[in-house]
Amino acid sequence: MPTPTPKRVALLGATGSIGTQALDVMRAHPTRFAVAALSAQSNAELLITQAREFRPAVVVIGDETKYETVKTALAQQPETEVLAGAGALAEVAARPDSDIVLTAMVGYAGLLPTVAAIRAGKDIALANKETLVVAGQLITELVREHNVKLLPVDSEHSAIFQCLVGEEQNPIEKIILTASGGPFRGRGRAELATVTKAQALKHPNWDMGAKITIDSASLMNKGLEVIEAKWLFGLRDDQIDVVVHPQSIIHSLVQFEDGSLKAQLGLPDMKLPIQYALGYPERLPSDFPRFNFLAYPQFTFEQPDTTTFRNLALAFEAMRRGGNAPCILNAANEVAVAAFLRDEIGFLEMSDLVESCLTKVSYLATPSLDDYVHTDQETRRVAQTLIGHGTKSR
Ligand code: NAD
Ligand code: MG
Repeated sequence: MPTPTPKRVALLGATGSIGTQALDVMRAHPTRFAVAALSAQSNAELLITQAREFRPAVVVIGDETKYETVKTALAQQPETEVLAGAGALAEVAARPDSDIVLTAMVGYAGLLPTVAAIRAGKDIALANKETLVVAGQLITELVREHNVKLLPVDSEHSAIFQCLVGEEQNPIEKIILTASGGPFRGRGRAELATVTKAQALKHPNWDMGAKITIDSASLMNKGLEVIEAKWLFGLRDDQIDVVVHPQSIIHSLVQFEDGSLKAQLGLPDMKLPIQYALGYPERLPSDFPRFNFLAYPQFTFEQPDTTTFRNLALAFEAMRRGGNAPCILNAANEVAVAAFLRDEIGFLEMSDLVESCLTKVSYLATPSLDDYVHTDQETRRVAQTLIGHGTKSR
């Protein structure tokens, strides 16, 4: 069989948890993938090491004060252009020398580069769920208009996507997103009031970046994933269920109209969904550890506790309201998580902040891209002011 030409991947957020695992996948398949671009926000050292190994056409360092460091370090590598700043990310995402853009940066910062990439006709391997939370309607319309693929990297969504292969003519009755429950599963509000960031940063099953790890502990991650699923799979709000499955082996399920359930299973390892998105529609061989049923004699399931973990209920509420409500939810949550990580607010106050922002920031039913940008800025301003005045935890 002739060797296919390598897929050219622009990897945004290369130095993070998803980014480094994506490079592991590409390193293992050098004939299938070529790295066209790499970006990092502030870790210049790792970006330089990655650039020396993968020799992309361009690297972007978000923090402009580190431009000279990266430029000097790569002086012996003239084929790699060095750019800096947030604007460069959108420019690089749209360059003609890549086929697919893997969005592995964290947070709202993913929105504009993803829009630029879609408008330039790139397929998107989407790890950056915040983009779909903020502007799902706009993004999915752009994807249709430009006829590109939107391939989920998030493990739950990859599971659903894999279950849907071959089912194009069969409507979904509902999907069931599984949740690990995070490190505080089973705890009550009194205990959560005093948990520390060190405790919240210890996830039982996954090793991830700080923001998503806090989101997993607060169940906001599952809330964001509910909204992400709505847009990825074109679902009504009442077609999305969440069940807690602490073993994180069943990655999610689809229920069809005949009542049949399909699930995708595997050990919790993000390399698998990353590789599936990059290799799609092919399944490439891997040496990832294989699942052994005897090591997991029991799978268990629970109802998520949305009275204790209010973020999940707030996310469902924002999804039902639609418009810019999920954008407000996301921006407030980003500010809340950053403040929690700086020990400025307590664990439960994160939900209070999100709830207050949802009532205080003006609602827009049909936002434009500019409206999302404005809503994000306005929400951050409101959230910062509330933190300054002290949020109160009920
Ligand atoms: P991380 O914090 O480990 O890495 C984030 C990456 O984004 C880094 O390369 C960083 O340099 C870059 N970055 C940070 N701020 C940026 C900014 N303002 N502009 C541009 N780039 C910036 O995060 P992660 O855990 O790899 O998560 C990345 C995304 O993937 C998130 O949206 C997360 O929700 C999603 N995701 C992650 C996992 C996981 O297992 N880590 C699983 C599912 C989904
Ligand atoms: Mg997930």
